[in-house]
Amino acid sequence: MRPTGALHLGHYHGALKNWVRLQDEYECFYFVADWHALTTHYEERSVMERYVYDMVIDWIAAGLDPERCTIFIQSRIPEHAELFTLLAMGTPLGWLERVPTYKDQIDKLKDRDLATYGFLGYPLLQAADILIYKAAGVPVGEDQASHVELTREVARRFNNLYGRAPDFEAQVAATLAKLGKDDARYFERQRKAFGETGAPEALAKGEAIVAKAAAGVAGWTADDSELLLGHLKGAGKSILTEPQALHTEVAKLPGLDGAKMSKSYGNAVLMRDSPEEVTKKIRGMTTDPARVRRTDPGTPEKCPVWQFHQVYSDAPTKEWVVKGCTTAGIGCLDCKQPVIDAIVQEQSPWRERAERYLTNPKQVHWIVEMGTERARTVARQTMKDVRTAMGISY
Ligand code: SF4
Repeated sequence: MRPTGALHLGHYHGALKNWVRLQDEYECFYFVADWHALTTHYEERSVMERYVYDMVIDWIAAGLDPERCTIFIQSRIPEHAELFTLLAMGTPLGWLERVPTYKDQIDKLKDRDLATYGFLGYPLLQAADILIYKAAGVPVGEDQASHVELTREVARRFNNLYGRAPDFEAQVAATLAKLGKDDARYFERQRKAFGETGAPEALAKGEAIVAKAAAGVAGWTADDSELLLGHLKGAGKSILTEPQALHTEVAKLPGLDGAKMSKSYGNAVLMRDSPEEVTKKIRGMTTDPARVRRTDPGTPEKCPVWQFHQVYSDAPTKEWVVKGCTTAGIGCLDCKQPVIDAIVQEQSPWRERAERYLTNPKQVHWIVEMGTERARTVARQTMKDVRTAMGISY
């Protein structure tokens, strides 16, 4: 997550809540993506200094437990930059220009000059961030799915280029000969199709041929199977792991005006807003424009407060809202009160947890230090493998 400002409820419900859940299911690495923030905010040095540790406090406040997951800062592990550089050597420019968020972001952030090498390359930096931990999964929203796909392509290409023994081709030819002409030709067709399109059926058909050979070809060995399966997937040996996108249904919370919640739009409720601020902000929220007077009936679907009820309210409360709104039986301030109460209640453990670290910033630094050390151990090992595979391990 980029450290570009205090976290708000949109961050919590859109990502953090899921992160907290994942720490019990997986070995998780969460990092402050300060280099990524620089790809769009390279002129704003003060932003970074202010928000890096603040963001870690927000994470811990939300429930990330440094004992159960690894929390660190990207720029403290230069190996990310090294892998980015090495991957950049063989990544076609077209792959980066094609990433849908590239043009989209350039259009959206018109006030910034994003015609930079860093901005074009940030999905590759993201790929390095993922691949350096040999991550099996990456929790992302739909809009980031293409980045995970790029990461998979980059890993596949790397394994293809550097994961082979010098006599790999000769070994493959000898093993294919054991299959017999027809099966060998059929296998090669599936391999080509999978390499070009990534079609899972082609992969399955190729694997079936190998399974058939393992069961019926005389003199077939486990090494033969491994060799051909590696050949099928485009790699002799898997040095970098292709990650999967971990999609989760997350609640979408709009901003106070119904647009996307963002601190820069001035429509956000911050995770650490005081109860007074929460009350003031929610009471001032935009409602269905048809409800000009208290006596005008409204339509909850046209009101952002209703979306807050979807996240925060139980079924009876939601029924009360629908009935009260559509019959003008309740006023908008009545309707907003259960949302205010629920947010204040949700924030209470966050405030408690954050307080400990706000009064003792050294403890946050120490947590990041420990996390950085843990992450660095993994990153260093991957870089050893990468350098050896590329022939630059002098
Ligand atoms: S009563 Fe509730 S749902 Fe209806 S317009 Fe007012 S705030 Fe929105």
